[in-house]
Amino acid sequence: MAKMQTRTMFQVAIKDLVDICPHCESRAHFQLLFSDSYQEGDDSIIYYAIFRCVPCKKLILKTFKFCKNEFSNNNLSAVGWQDKFPKEKAPNVSKFDGAVPLNALEDFIEGVICLHNKCPRAAVSIFRRSLQAALIDRGASRKLDLIEQIKNASFLTKDIKEWAYSIRIFGNWAAHPQSDNLKDVDEKIALETKLFLEEFFNYVYVMPLRVTNARKNTSLD
Ligand SMILES: [Zn+2]
Repeated sequence: MAKMQTRTMFQVAIKDLVDICPHCESRAHFQLLFSDSYQEGDDSIIYYAIFRCVPCKKLILKTFKFCKNEFSNNNLSAVGWQDKFPKEKAPNVSKFDGAVPLNALEDFIEGVICLHNKCPRAAVSIFRRSLQAALIDRGASRKLDLIEQIKNASFLTKDIKEWAYSIRIFGNWAAHPQSDNLKDVDEKIALETKLFLEEFFNYVYVMPLRVTNARKNTSLD
């Protein structure tokens, strides 16, 4: 495409942008504040835009690259989004430290990193593994499917179980080996899975630990 067309394409890309905010970590609407472009030494064009995350109001800068097509003069092709500033943070899991079993927590962290790197399928696979590790830690049978392990978990409330049942990737995973369960997984499903795991960890590990600590402190008084 010609240079003029790159501008049009970039303007379409930044209009009503929805992306993961590196500040509040939610999938949010980015309100466009400013955009411009510059040419790099190799004649590729970098467009950049400053956005405000609508929910948390913080600023984000993103770049979008078009590179020169080596086979024809004056022809540019879109490479796509490049950098995002600030960079997405390493997931903040300090609230789970010392409460959630290490193997479940390590898988969870890896899943969050996959999610930040736009790999929702890898993210949900490892989120499932994390949940399963936690359920086994709490006594679930290794022989059962994840959905059965959830059903049998007497320490979970009805609400938590119902939420888990509504998350499609927790059920039916191994029921039809020929079907590709990951095919339809997108960022939205991966985000909901992450949110579920956070609440699961809070309920199953963090809260009981806080209660125990609070009791210890009261009995010391
Ligand atoms: Zn935000």
